[in-house]
Amino acid sequence: MPTSSRYFALLRLSSVLVGTIGLPCLLYAQAETPIDAAKPVPPKIVSDTSQLKVLDQFAKQADTLAKKWYPRIVELLGARKTSPSSNDIILVMDFEYKGVAATSGRVISMSPEWIRKHPDDLGMVVHELTHVAQGYPDYDPVWLVEGIADWVRWFNFEPKDKRPHPNPDKVSARDSYRTTAAFLDWALKTYDKNLVRKLDQTLKENTYKEAMWVTLTGKSLDDLNTDWIAFLRASAKK
Ligand SMILES: [Zn+2]
Repeated sequence: MPTSSRYFALLRLSSVLVGTIGLPCLLYAQAETPIDAAKPVPPKIVSDTSQLKVLDQFAKQADTLAKKWYPRIVELLGARKTSPSSNDIILVMDFEYKGVAATSGRVISMSPEWIRKHPDDLGMVVHELTHVAQGYPDYDPVWLVEGIADWVRWFNFEPKDKRPHPNPDKVSARDSYRTTAAFLDWALKTYDKNLVRKLDQTLKENTYKEAMWVTLTGKSLDDLNTDWIAFLRASAKK
């Protein structure tokens, strides 16, 4: 091939190469250039943290309540000396906890979900504060431990019109929680105003036995239960 022909052949090859490589770059550059160059307007962001405020407000109310009511609860159960180092109570909004509330030692765990749905349920805090004041070595018998905590709540803290009214056809003194609370209230008004304090003392000393109902009231627990149900029936007829 003559020199001039070789020169033109090289020239054609360079044009093809430049054209092939250059084309995608050109398309890419075109895609990056917006047709309308106006800047996008940032959106207005509204953060709704009202659900967190409910928890914060409840925590503040619980704090005030605990300072006022914990000494009263200790008094109701029978005052006892505590060392200052163990006097702190920790209230925890526990997102991992699936129940309503629970107490372990002096730590009360409360469900944020429950509080969000029941922002006025400060009675729950009173119930749990009672467990702190109880501090029993054993959670036994459960029905009585829970009954005392609910007696403090329903018969000392909550308004009178919210007190439980157990159905005499369905209840037993050992039904725990508010039913046992109603039984305790009847028993202490009927036999001994210090009944709850005396029961609390034996539970703290881990010496509770069912036979002590006879010592405290002159009647067995079963007989007391029968009398209480008769009282409920008579009250329901009034
Ligand atoms: Zn409880």
